[in-house]
Amino acid sequence: MRLFTPALALIALLALAGCSGAEPAGVASTRDPTTPSPGAAVPPSPTPTAAPTASPTPRPTPSASPIPIYHPAPYKVAIEAGHGGPYWWGSAGRDAGGNQLIEKDLALDVALRLEALLREAGYETLLVRDGDHTLTYFDASDYRGSLVAETQARVDLANGARADIIVSIHFNGSSDASLRGTETYYNPDRPFGLESYNLAYFVQRELIAVLSDLGHDVNDRGVRNDAEVGGDPENAHSFLLGTNGGFRPLQMPGVISEALFLSNADDAARAAAEGTRQRLAEAYRAAIDAYFAWLPSQGVLVPTPTPKPLDCCGFSFW
Ligand SMILES: [Zn+2]
Repeated sequence: MRLFTPALALIALLALAGCSGAEPAGVASTRDPTTPSPGAAVPPSPTPTAAPTASPTPRPTPSASPIPIYHPAPYKVAIEAGHGGPYWWGSAGRDAGGNQLIEKDLALDVALRLEALLREAGYETLLVRDGDHTLTYFDASDYRGSLVAETQARVDLANGARADIIVSIHFNGSSDASLRGTETYYNPDRPFGLESYNLAYFVQRELIAVLSDLGHDVNDRGVRNDAEVGGDPENAHSFLLGTNGGFRPLQMPGVISEALFLSNADDAARAAAEGTRQRLAEAYRAAIDAYFAWLPSQGVLVPTPTPKPLDCCGFSFW
């Protein structure tokens, strides 16, 4: 397989996107001591308080997020197709016929399918990118700076649209072609870490269900703390989901999802099929449905996982 990006670009991409295969074990999470843990971040139940006025409409309980997490439908979903444009391809691989598969293209394809499904279901949507481009001027001679600026533009767009959640759609890659499977990242160290975790839980669950149903040899790599990815030396979290220095962070729960490894022959063959990508979009929609059905209950599905080392690898193709 051909390496598509220079080594420097790969290093920069590791910090930004969240595709796995990035850093070795032991990447320390630099938890901001001022940031409550996910367990402490759950807003109180939206129990109506003694209303000083006669308003018949209960007001949503203020949450720790500037964007209210709890409010009546319709909900707005920001769909972020990972990567884009001439310089930011993401991972790559080949299908069974030797045709090239590029992550930015497959991610956009799934994103467009998901948007159609969500609109059909009554959601409001924001496509963070709707074509093969970036939102900002991309200076290939300053790859990292360009990626930070581009990621900031995407975060700003979602914040400005006051999206309720953001789902970042990726496919994975690694220099180890035997690596394959499905994983979903979230950031526990935000005021809405619990919400992000549960969204990740549902996304991972639905992706695994769909791939199993398709007869794929599924490898469930689980819900993962995005601090595993390794990012900014000052902050292990990804730029997209984190609170890296000087960065205006997302103001809503979000996940980075990696459905399949394009660098693995079996996973790539599956991702190359249009029918698979439609089913993946359906899985994302089912997960989003499940999240918003869960949200009012404010329950905890399962304990938040402890960050654990990656079981791999060298640099990826990002
Ligand atoms: Zn990616």
